[in-house]
Amino acid sequence: MKKQIKVRKVKNKPFRITKFFWLGVAALVMIVGIGMIIPFKPSANTLELAVNASSLKTIDTKGQIEGFKTQMLDSWQEEAKLKGILEIPKRYQGMTLNAVKPNNKDKIIALTFDDGPWPKYTEQVLDILKTNNVKGTFFVIGNNMKNLPVVGKRIVTDGHTIANHTWHHWYHRLNPSVAAKEINDTEEIIYKVTGVRTNLFRPPGGVLGNGPAAYARSKKYSVIMWSADSNDYKRPAASRLIGNVMRFSKPGGIVLMHDGGGVRDSTVKALPEMIKKFKQQGYRFVTIPEMLELEDQQLAIASK
Ligand SMILES: [Zn+2]
Repeated sequence: MKKQIKVRKVKNKPFRITKFFWLGVAALVMIVGIGMIIPFKPSANTLELAVNASSLKTIDTKGQIEGFKTQMLDSWQEEAKLKGILEIPKRYQGMTLNAVKPNNKDKIIALTFDDGPWPKYTEQVLDILKTNNVKGTFFVIGNNMKNLPVVGKRIVTDGHTIANHTWHHWYHRLNPSVAAKEINDTEEIIYKVTGVRTNLFRPPGGVLGNGPAAYARSKKYSVIMWSADSNDYKRPAASRLIGNVMRFSKPGGIVLMHDGGGVRDSTVKALPEMIKKFKQQGYRFVTIPEMLELEDQQLAIASK
């Protein structure tokens, strides 16, 4: 008997060890598994950090640089939205620009519209941009913002950039205090109507030497000119207007058009076809702050 028991013990011992061993392993696997699943259900922040880290590590390929730039732009826009201000990069503050030079000839183009808000035409332009999912930049006149605040506000709520084009649209030489008032009053009405404080300025008629542009630069505005003039104020046929724009357009270019200041039927007629042509040529549309931010990021990456 004694011997038998001994034998049984010897026989059973490995069985028991094996059974409990595997039960233990199964329990461990479950605990570790659950432990791994919980942290991998990511919060937005964790995911963002992970994406940022991977972008920084492997920034040597073109696709990843593009991704990195898009991320930077997105986070910057979010920040700007929270602040209610579209801060322009430092290197462009107090400067005059008529285009940017994107890396790799990145096919970006900025459509800009001056002299609104204006009855009928501004809303027609906004409708066309909305249909085509295009964002533009509107240089508004302070006095027109006062007269048509609902339309002026729609520029911003539709996702476009609003910018300063003086209160009276005067071309003649202004003394410093009048020049300052032209800019400041317009900045204030834009802020009052839309909640956005702009620091982009375009001088009426492109006149740089009559006072307002110098004041704007001293206030760290970017003075934004253009590289492709549609000459739409001459009311050309739509096909001619499109030709004017396409002939002078290049990556990083800025297109000048008007949604206000007079009869703008030819601008409204030409716009859908112009957008189509740009898209066919592989262009994507950016606002002026987006354009400046993209170039700033490229320059920052290039100088690292
Ligand atoms: Zn103008």
